[in-house]
Amino acid sequence: MDARERLRTYLEQRRDLGESELVFDSMSVDEVMRSIGAIGLTESPRNLGEGPIPGSAITAGSSASGLFNADIMQLESLASIADAVGSCTRCPLYATATRGVPGEGAAGARLVCVGEAPGANEDATGRPFVGAAGQLLTKILAAVDLPREEVFITNVVKHRPPNNRNPAPSEIEACNPYLVRQLQLIKPKVIVAFGTFAAQTLLNSKTPIGRLRGEVHRYHGIPLIVTYHPAALLRNPAWKRPTWEDVKLARRILDSAPGA
Ligand code: URA
Repeated sequence: MDARERLRTYLEQRRDLGESELVFDSMSVDEVMRSIGAIGLTESPRNLGEGPIPGSAITAGSSASGLFNADIMQLESLASIADAVGSCTRCPLYATATRGVPGEGAAGARLVCVGEAPGANEDATGRPFVGAAGQLLTKILAAVDLPREEVFITNVVKHRPPNNRNPAPSEIEACNPYLVRQLQLIKPKVIVAFGTFAAQTLLNSKTPIGRLRGEVHRYHGIPLIVTYHPAALLRNPAWKRPTWEDVKLARRILDSAPGA
């Protein structure tokens, strides 16, 4: 890629993240220079922030073993979890949804994205994050060099709530074993919780998302980053900047994890 193409790609990424007035203030001078080819690419092409990665904030799930439905916890593959979701009647959502949306992606994914619940497009296709919010999620991931196919994307709740209402606590509780088992099997290096329901469910916390984001939490020992839901970003562009910082932090953790 020559300098002009790099600059164009960079500008497109910023526009896709909703920034019509371009400011370079979320990038270091070196990163901008590198992106336009003004300095060599021998150094890291991404500025993923400075200084040490923050230490653990909330630690969740240290004694979860045995707390969840035993049958689900014995499912041995992502495919068998998907099958179980497909015939799940553990909460009433199956009755109003078209189909289950178990999640998709690489079984060996190093990063797992967790959202809230399927919407209309996901309910129609059986695939997570394929509507407008999903397209934004795909772009957010691409902005830190993570092709969608390389990550695993799922939701706290696997069936669409009617009219996209918030999932009820009882529905989240009924569905949670699937997410727990998915994360046990995948063993990612980092989890990104998108939105309040994902963050509060995974961290077993009632703390508002604005206070959870910006720190590295732990889920069964796995670093967990909290950020805003892509659908919220579509409504509130002011959250795009902090989301970008959170996703860069997740990328830094990934890059510093063994096997990077
Ligand atoms: N919002 C979510 O939280 N999940 C999806 O799969 C789609 C939209």
